[in-house]
Amino acid sequence: MSTLHRGHIFHLTGRPSVQEAAEALVEIPDGALWVEDDGTIAWCGRYSERPERRGGEVQVVDHGDAFILPGFVDTHMHFPQVNSIDAYCGGQLLEWLDRCIFPAEARFADEAFALGAAKEFCNRLISAGTTTSLVFGSAFPVAQEALFDEYQRRGLRGVIGRGIQTVGPETAKPLITSEEDAIRLTEAEIERWHPATEEAARRALVCVAVVPRFSLSVTTKTLAALGELYDHYRSSGVYFTSHLSENNRPGDGEIAAVLESFKVESYLDTYDGYFLPGGKKGGHSLLGRRSIMAHCVHCSDAELARLAAAGTAVSHCPNSQLFLGSGTMPWLRTVASGVTIAAGSDVAGGDNWLIPYVLNTAFKVHISEPGAAGVALHPAVLLHMATVAGARALDLEDRIGNFDTGREADMVVIDPSRWEPLANSLEWGVLSDDPEKRTHGRLFTLLMACNEVAVAETYVRGRKLNDEKA
Ligand SMILES: [Zn+2]
Repeated sequence: MSTLHRGHIFHLTGRPSVQEAAEALVEIPDGALWVEDDGTIAWCGRYSERPERRGGEVQVVDHGDAFILPGFVDTHMHFPQVNSIDAYCGGQLLEWLDRCIFPAEARFADEAFALGAAKEFCNRLISAGTTTSLVFGSAFPVAQEALFDEYQRRGLRGVIGRGIQTVGPETAKPLITSEEDAIRLTEAEIERWHPATEEAARRALVCVAVVPRFSLSVTTKTLAALGELYDHYRSSGVYFTSHLSENNRPGDGEIAAVLESFKVESYLDTYDGYFLPGGKKGGHSLLGRRSIMAHCVHCSDAELARLAAAGTAVSHCPNSQLFLGSGTMPWLRTVASGVTIAAGSDVAGGDNWLIPYVLNTAFKVHISEPGAAGVALHPAVLLHMATVAGARALDLEDRIGNFDTGREADMVVIDPSRWEPLANSLEWGVLSDDPEKRTHGRLFTLLMACNEVAVAETYVRGRKLNDEKA
């Protein structure tokens, strides 16, 4: 049976660039979204103009005054950090990893613990309206098995890969494997969970990524072997993701440590095959159109240009960048490079699961950039980062990200009546008399003032997901 969802619709139609987001914005106050029983969108428009159904039954789900948006895409988060939000380390990225995160991730060797954590992780995603996620996984196969199983059981869409480490400090020891095991376990995970062909991957809800934690977690030997492995599986739609240029503390921060350790001048080179001293080529590139780099706070123009040319996307994680004192990704300069900028919670460096809260922080940090770099992001640009750009970053733009006919119905229902501050701002806040400006004002308030409590329902491919909270 097909389903007609009635509610207040916002989405970005077509395939807009970030600069075209405002023109692509569609608001339909009494809207209808027609979802076929295979989960694809048959029609989106005004409820009063819905087409006659040609045979077959139609179930109408009336969401009242609630808003219907494309499901949020979270392009960067960490499964084994599910319980590590707001962990106090008294320092920045490298101290936080050493004192809080490596010990927390070591607990995932315990199967019973990992099973509970996988359930919790999926509950959190569903509660936050996140329908698609790109996930740094655990080092431990039992934990990965639990997470893949749980995604499939719950019906979530995602790309997951085991966290690869072959070097690291003492606290990371439980997470570190031999060079051989790093490749063997990654290959086994791809064989077990990734669809066999690109065609099958394009229909699947769950895919696999190759995920070294960051350059500092792997040796040149591992990078070379991962390059070969990725080259072998690239054509079947396997993803690659890692961190890039996050912490720039002079002397001993992440970027300084990468340049010193590899004896290279560009952090990006370590993922691009040029990881030998002096930036000499040592293996295959890991960049491409299914490759996503988290943070990119301190990239050079040349690095951004290379990312854009390769089709590699940036996962922008401003909550995490604030929490760990990493700085602010330069918005205008990054946009100018042409690279796709999608949103990432970076749980647990980011201390909130809700993508609208990531957008809220993005708005605040970019309006506060110094001088001419400061910019008030348009509400359509915020929605772009959370939906269309996320879909594009994951090479899923022909399937998800908006409500155009033929896309799969991944959507979130936000009901302001569940969160009074949001309801009041929408009801009583002053909006322009100009219809277009009124649309912009309403969307801005909806995204900026959204709270997880207001997320009423989450759907993937037309199917409502249950958060299974006790
Ligand atoms: Zn991260």
